[in-house]
Amino acid sequence: MSKDARNKDVDVELSPGDRKQFEALVALMARHGFGEDGPPRETTFAEIEKFGHRVGRMVGRAIDAHLASQHAEHFTGEEACPTCNEKQPPKESPHELPLQTPDGEVTLHEPTCRCSTCRRDFFPSAYPVAD
Ligand SMILES: [Zn+2]
Repeated sequence: MSKDARNKDVDVELSPGDRKQFEALVALMARHGFGEDGPPRETTFAEIEKFGHRVGRMVGRAIDAHLASQHAEHFTGEEACPTCNEKQPPKESPHELPLQTPDGEVTLHEPTCRCSTCRRDFFPSAYPVAD
């Protein structure tokens, strides 16, 4: 298998414009790790790789949080209780759920509804169904 074929499973395809922004983010994070001039001569590849992995986990957590927040926007109205199927309004504040991901902890802000009949909270985004 060629190197390009192996990376195809890993990399997300980007348009040329998005690729440019991605490269700008890479340059920004590299500068944070090793300064404007890049890694000094005595730097080992293991040190470079370790920093790259650390940034990858940071980006992974940020993307998880961003997408979960966007996903939560689908659940701002009344939702059916999974037990009695009665429609219930959302609670004022979402449930804070610290979640352990492969990249570290991400806190989700889950939309929450209270069923007064069943006397329980439920989290409609945890069991999404199409409208
Ligand atoms: Zn119920």
